[in-house]
Amino acid sequence: MDEKARPLPPPDNLRTRAEKSLVTPDERISRMSEAEVRRLAHELQVHQIELQMQNEDLLDAQAQLEQSRDRYNDLYEFAPVGYLTLDIKQRIHEANLTMAAQLGVERSALVGRILSDLVAHDSQNLLHLEWRSAMASKARHIDTELELKRSDGSTFFVQFTCLREPDGDTHGTRFRCALSDISARREVENVRLESARQMEFMAHHDSLTGLANRVMFQKRVNHALARARRQKRDVALLYLDLDGFKHINDSFGHDVGDTLLVAAAQRLQACVRAEDILARLGGDEFGIVLEEVSEAWGAALVADKVIDALTAPFVLEGRELVLGVSVGVCLFPTDGEDSSELIRNADIAMYQAKHHGGNVVQFYTPALSEAVRARVDTESALRRAIEEHELAIYYQPMMSIATQRIVGAEALLRWQDPSRGLLLPDSFLPVAELSGLIVQVGNCVIDEVCRQIASWRADALALPRISVNISARQCASGQVVDVLRNALQTHGVDPEALDLEITESCYLDKSAVGSVLPALRELGVSLTIDDFGTGYASLASLGQVPVSTIKIDRSFVAEIGNEPGDGAIARAVVALGASQDLRVVAEGVERPAQLEALRTMQCEICQGFLIAPPMAADDFAVWLAEQSARIETP
Ligand code: C2E
Ligand code: MG
Ligand code: MG
Repeated sequence: MDEKARPLPPPDNLRTRAEKSLVTPDERISRMSEAEVRRLAHELQVHQIELQMQNEDLLDAQAQLEQSRDRYNDLYEFAPVGYLTLDIKQRIHEANLTMAAQLGVERSALVGRILSDLVAHDSQNLLHLEWRSAMASKARHIDTELELKRSDGSTFFVQFTCLREPDGDTHGTRFRCALSDISARREVENVRLESARQMEFMAHHDSLTGLANRVMFQKRVNHALARARRQKRDVALLYLDLDGFKHINDSFGHDVGDTLLVAAAQRLQACVRAEDILARLGGDEFGIVLEEVSEAWGAALVADKVIDALTAPFVLEGRELVLGVSVGVCLFPTDGEDSSELIRNADIAMYQAKHHGGNVVQFYTPALSEAVRARVDTESALRRAIEEHELAIYYQPMMSIATQRIVGAEALLRWQDPSRGLLLPDSFLPVAELSGLIVQVGNCVIDEVCRQIASWRADALALPRISVNISARQCASGQVVDVLRNALQTHGVDPEALDLEITESCYLDKSAVGSVLPALRELGVSLTIDDFGTGYASLASLGQVPVSTIKIDRSFVAEIGNEPGDGAIARAVVALGASQDLRVVAEGVERPAQLEALRTMQCEICQGFLIAPPMAADDFAVWLAEQSARIETP
């Protein structure tokens, strides 16, 4: 601080000065009258008092001034801002205590140092440039952010505001600088920036595998296509869907499923180059874009590599798990112009690969698109058919070969399409199966059959046990248990009145075998394995599920009686049934010779056009009434 309060002169000194300037000579006083002297003395007294009072006022003012100087001093020293006075060479002339504390040094150690020595390396340049441009332009003001070094080597950020004092000071040009610590503000900004960066990452990446997600994939495909257009190059897009993942996920739980996905993603990463694009497009679907492919065979090579990588067993928590992968490939520009079209067409090709049984590479062809369009058309028509009640149930009797009694009937779905006539399940169930609509359709069938049984019972019609077909997908959905329980309750039907025909593919689903099928059995309905011999059920798995009947597929029945020795499979199934204490039904019996052969094999039950075709509900009721003497009720 330069400024000092100027002290008042001591009173004696004042007196000497006053005597010196006294102008009234002594003789003049001696010639004065007494009255004049008295008046003069009075005036002198008054002056003295005035002077005294003035002196007191001055002392008061001085005290106030000192107080305010102390306050100012405190403010200067302890303000939450560092203050420095610099000369033109950035040399520090004054520093407040806060500045010294912020830098972790004694104030005395600061005076004489150069500011740039206290500035961290990254801010040196900035300070240099700002200072130089301020000097060159004679600007009075510098305002910038600097990083300063503490004595312990750590750093912090300050807002550096520097004001040039007006020229003409005796000390030369001075700069008064305020340095406020903005580390906290910076930290908040950094946190905000980091969280914005994380949000951005999450919006474009899959949190489980860390791969790009579908949004990011589409963006990167667009960029790749733009580059390929410029450079007139081909691009290949691979659409991957893991085979058997759902089964593992359902059987071993989501944690194992997640770990498997991460491991699969790592293997995929190893199949592609750094410049290729790999993304997780959804559940167990991945996408790969190869920017530099030598036409189709280049893509085929990578696709084969992918299949090899993913079919090698995974070992998780001591368990060996086997996956497969279906790969659809399409090429730019041949198979699509933009990312959406390419992704869609590669998806269509993947779908076809899956249809071929998985672990297959399928290249896109326009014919595939046609097939998909037809599928989509059928699917929407089927949805409409459900709403318009165009689905109907036909019933086909089953007969005991030995007693000729009617021991059952199978409920078979039909679609009464207003324009195309009566459609058989083979023309629409595969689509329902693929789209998942089968679950809804199957639920309707269960409800309708229960309603029909109740209605026939109310009409006192003698009724054999009715078999309802349940698809693997229905089994897997698990809903079937509740749907069946509800239908039985709603329509007041005994569970013994129903049998469910499941296909061998149900066995592939561990959760179906482990919980759904036993739960269905628990409800009191019986279970039949349909189309036995065509699927995957091993003999060992027969024991796992509480079935009471197996049904020989009609393709094996068709072989019977053509040549001697034909019908070997049917014979084997009948023998297997006998050994396991299971009833055996032969379906598709069309000719008397087949019936005779089955009788010889000691097959218990038959079903087929020879006995009766599937009939509409009303026709079946009439047929049953006619056969009432030989109906075996459950
Ligand atoms: P499936 O369960 O094996 O049904 C037997 C099929 O054999 C029926 O075909 C039936 O009409 C046919 N059939 C019966 N007797 C003969 C015969 O003497 N000769 C020949 N060649 N065929 C005969 P449909 O009705 O076309 O049903 C086909 C398949 O559709 C069924 O095979 C079944 O798997 C499925 N299905 C039918 N209705 C349903 C349903 O409500 N739900 C489910 N999930 N599947 C159903
Ligand atoms: Mg059946
Ligand atoms: Mg069958």
